[in-house]
Amino acid sequence: MAAVGTLSRFVRLSSFVGKSRRLIFNRIQRRGIASCIDPSLGLTDEQKEFQKVAFDFAANEMAPHMAEWDEKEIFPVECMRKAAQLGFGGIYTQPEVGGSGLSRLDTSVIFEALSTGCVSTTAYISIHNMCNWMIDTFGNTEQRERYCPDLCTMDKLASYCLTEPGAGSDAASLLTTAQLKGDHYVLNGSKAFISGGGDTDVYVVMCRTGGKGAKGISCVVVEKGTPGLGFGKKEKKVGWNSQPTRAVIFEDCAVPVTNRLGAEGQGFSIAMKGLNGGRINIASCSLGAAHACVQLARDHLCVRKQFGEPLSSNQFLQFKLAEMATKLVASRLLVREAAHALQENRPDAVALCSMAKLFATDECFTICNQALQMHGGYGYLKDYAVQQFVRDIRVHQILEGTNEVMRLIIARDLLMDS
Ligand SMILES: Cc1cc2nc3c(=O)[nH]c(=O)nc-3n(C[C@H](O)[C@H](O)[C@H](O)COP(=O)(O)OP(=O)(O)OC[C@H]3O[C@@H](n4cnc5c(N)ncnc54)[C@H](O)[C@@H]3O)c2cc1C
Repeated sequence: MAAVGTLSRFVRLSSFVGKSRRLIFNRIQRRGIASCIDPSLGLTDEQKEFQKVAFDFAANEMAPHMAEWDEKEIFPVECMRKAAQLGFGGIYTQPEVGGSGLSRLDTSVIFEALSTGCVSTTAYISIHNMCNWMIDTFGNTEQRERYCPDLCTMDKLASYCLTEPGAGSDAASLLTTAQLKGDHYVLNGSKAFISGGGDTDVYVVMCRTGGKGAKGISCVVVEKGTPGLGFGKKEKKVGWNSQPTRAVIFEDCAVPVTNRLGAEGQGFSIAMKGLNGGRINIASCSLGAAHACVQLARDHLCVRKQFGEPLSSNQFLQFKLAEMATKLVASRLLVREAAHALQENRPDAVALCSMAKLFATDECFTICNQALQMHGGYGYLKDYAVQQFVRDIRVHQILEGTNEVMRLIIARDLLMDS
């Protein structure tokens, strides 16, 4: 029932989300979406409605600004708060704490659509959603009521803090300590590469309260302004420039024990459960980029003439375009299957989320890169959106577990009983 209530909000809002599509989206709309890559195929009427809301938001509120946000490294907080008004700040957070209560598949559909307007901003929104879900799922009533409503409206923004300078792929070796002193944990250590770091309000931090390994890790929420919480310089990045990335530093940072999510020692499990959904989300962001790039490439091939005819007459390029479309649809099918598996808590869910992240982020990067190639020299110019999609999705092969780590997880699942 909650989801239906939420949906009617989406439907209502869709009527006043602007009609005009600009920039690259003008061209997409004029030519229409080829039915074989139509992302609405197979969706319910309700899903098509909020997919449309997300596409419209991407076209009107994000796409016109994505180049400027990238160039000037602007974190578009107001735009994200507008997205939150549509229910996108807590898409799979429960309605009783302000979330939309939608499914993992619904979430994937929304992030795919939003990413066509700006991958980097959507990817940050996806991390924020992951943190919101972690607090909603593993927090007690007091914690959920304290944090989730403001996260759902994006009045407060969240960051996920797992990686450390010496603990990347081997995240369970993290060294940030949380020493129990009275009714507080005193945190010392540092986190690396934290998305939103410095500009966000709520830090979901994995830290060591016990011995070595995964079982010694707990998860605590640290609020901005807590004495002893500091930040490194803003990193200069290849892409994902509309969101800041900084080190997060703890120096005798005292956090109430009541800020711990779940039990002591449960932190690594909470972190990994968050990432299962995070991997579907980030793969969905790659789908959106690839979807946009296939259409940009198709438009360019139809318009650009060489050797006296449109590039679209060239069979080599036709075949390449066909391969791109096939990879896109195959990626989308796998991502949506993983979303189903996670929603239903199936035993194959963890491996499928890893497969989806591995396959979709690799294939979608290839698609976007091929689209850039089809643009020739123009593809290398910042006037053309295709280069930004390439730059923005490259990091999806690295974060939320590298694609090598995805292979480790899949292989572990395959060999488990042998
Ligand atoms: C822009 C950006 C944003 C990020 N945001 C966040 C965030 O918000 N929160 C957060 O916690 N982290 C974040 N990260 C960190 C990210 O998750 C890590 O960079 C990633 O997990 C890899 O860790 P590493 O960089 O230390 O690489 P390493 O672990 O040093 O790996 C280097 C290379 O070796 C490979 N490798 C390592 N071990 C193996 C193995 N056993 N078998 C095969 N290959 C292996 C890796 O796959 C990789 O290719 C972000 C990173 C970036 C770049």
